[in-house]
Amino acid sequence: ISGFDRLYDKRYSKGLAFTHEERQQLGIHGLLPYVVRSEKDQVDHCRTLLDRLEQSLDKYMYLIGLSERNERLFYKVLASDIAHMMPLVYTPTVGLACQRYSLIHMNQKGMYISIKDKGHVYDVLKNWPETDVRAIVVTDGERILGLGDLGANGMGIPVGKLSLYTALAGIKPSQCLPITLDVGTNTESILADPLYIGLREKRTTGEAYDEFVDEFMHACVRRFGQNCLIQFEDFANANAFRLLAKYRDSFCTFNDDIQGTASVAVAGLLASLKIKKTQLKDNVLLFLGAGEAALGIANLCVMAMRAEGLTDEEAKSRIWLVDSRGVIIRDRPRGGLTEHKLHFAQVHDPIDTLSEAVRKLRPNVLIGAAAQGGAFTQEILELMAEINETPIIFALSNPTVKAECTAEEAYTHTKGRCIFASGSPFDPVTYNGQKFYPGQGNNSYIFPGVALGVLCAGMLTIPEQVFLVAAERLAELVSKEDLNKGSLYPPLNSIVNCSVAIADAIVEYAYKNGLASIRPEPANKVAFIKAQMYDLDYPRSVPATYKM
Ligand code: NAP
Ligand code: MN
Repeated sequence: ISGFDRLYDKRYSKGLAFTHEERQQLGIHGLLPYVVRSEKDQVDHCRTLLDRLEQSLDKYMYLIGLSERNERLFYKVLASDIAHMMPLVYTPTVGLACQRYSLIHMNQKGMYISIKDKGHVYDVLKNWPETDVRAIVVTDGERILGLGDLGANGMGIPVGKLSLYTALAGIKPSQCLPITLDVGTNTESILADPLYIGLREKRTTGEAYDEFVDEFMHACVRRFGQNCLIQFEDFANANAFRLLAKYRDSFCTFNDDIQGTASVAVAGLLASLKIKKTQLKDNVLLFLGAGEAALGIANLCVMAMRAEGLTDEEAKSRIWLVDSRGVIIRDRPRGGLTEHKLHFAQVHDPIDTLSEAVRKLRPNVLIGAAAQGGAFTQEILELMAEINETPIIFALSNPTVKAECTAEEAYTHTKGRCIFASGSPFDPVTYNGQKFYPGQGNNSYIFPGVALGVLCAGMLTIPEQVFLVAAERLAELVSKEDLNKGSLYPPLNSIVNCSVAIADAIVEYAYKNGLASIRPEPANKVAFIKAQMYDLDYPRSVPATYKM
């Protein structure tokens, strides 16, 4: 490629970090001002520019722009302070970005495949310039975070998730492809928005939808190979469960909302049990919500309790779920029980509200995943503290406005006794002179590492056990110090290490169980994994030579 391309192509650009020698050899001398910046000074400069911006959405736009000018610098900036940068490219800011995606759309990112392309999906995929795509995150935009149907504006989610693939697990950006399947949207305000970037019609559903997704899955394999990972993200409930069941045994795929969330929540539970010195099976769990997240967690809890020696029936008897019609019990007068919910239906008299459920069922663990902001009221939190010396409270719904309670509410109303984690970040809370550092129970602790492990081992399918392996490994990484501060997860700034450790556990599992397709089996798995990770340092722009 030409020197000019090296200057202007996001994959090669170094901006002011090109040395004078490189500039001369590449024929781009004079196209840059005199100064040569160190990588560190470049990162500091970006941070200075970011700090000038007041709105988080503007920061998001700045960072996306940067990623289009100089991709490596973008990742260096993220790596410079993951804990501060992640909320800008991921939840909560990515929620704002999706709500305004048509307005802020400036840089083309990822692929949009619309229902109008049905019959031609493979041809569309061929237009993607990279050939070695190893990981796809795909959405159809119907359930973006807790925000609902955003249509093609949901593209922010696959883009954000894949930026974490690179930032948190070193999966090379050229190997990542964000995709939106644009089948329309049912959200009137979006259909009426003159700036809307997507297909302006109601969602296609039913058979045509299924055929379209099926064509997409097969086209991905034909184009990128059967070991190309396809992560489903933010599909609406029924589609999410159905498509996972349909594809999980024959494609390299998982659903992050169901399985990734399950894994991070179970990791948090396992870590919290270290504080309570009990086993998972000694606890009663109550969920607000019985959707992808809640049912995913409930199912993985059954698997974890089975590992502790319970039968499935015994495990399920400890798990209760509340959906929009009340506690899930068999023969519920108000009905609404899907097959997935029925699995957890208990025999009990009807219970209509969450507070009634807490009072009657006396749970030790309360998990919110219903996107009902503020649902964990003072009364409910106080009840949890009355029932338990150390209540476990997870407010997993995203973005922040959808959280079931804030960190401050959780600590205040349980008199500082609860163990708390949330899906979106909260600042530390001081209660009664004690400072608590709430952990972020977000699947970003899991999916990058799972993807890295799956890719490094060349797995062709992803069994459920992988998510328990990941949860157990993550829980082991939580230190005494973290727990003492009130965090159920390792610090965000150590999350790359978590990803590598999770990948290591998965690669190990894959080889043990005959699921790895990469031969020969690497002798040192961690070294093998690390050798494949994206290098944040600029490579030389002119080839090195050697003596002959
Ligand atoms: P989903 O499949 O649509 O499920 C939502 C569930 O909430 C449904 O079971 C629904 O009941 C229930 N619900 C709605 N209103 C309710 C109410 N007033 N009272 C009780 N239950 C109610 O969505 P999901 O994928 O599970 O996601 C839910 C939330 O979890 C979202 O905010 C999402 O951002 C968050 N999430 C967080 C993470 C994380 O890493 N922290 C990961 C994934 C998802 P019905 O079944 O009766 O409709
Ligand atoms: Mn999601």
